[in-house]
Amino acid sequence: MAIEILKQEKAITNCIVKNEKGVMCAGHLKEYLTATEELKKQIPAKHSIYRCRRCLALYTMPEQDHLHASKSGSLLAPQKL
Ligand SMILES: [Zn+2]
Repeated sequence: MAIEILKQEKAITNCIVKNEKGVMCAGHLKEYLTATEELKKQIPAKHSIYRCRRCLALYTMPEQDHLHASKSGSLLAPQKL
């Protein structure tokens, strides 16, 4: 079974998956650094995979520069979207 990835055009920080009652999960999304190569092949260039800490839904969205800068310790030039 293929794993479903929710594609987002804009970066979001909280999960937007709704349950059967229509209630939004709103769990915190964390970059999914241990994604398999198989998963990484499914996402567009310059996108990262994020996973909801609550329901474990997977998202792909544009890389967030501010998160990157703190992670890698190197400064990246701001990009206009
Ligand atoms: Zn969620």
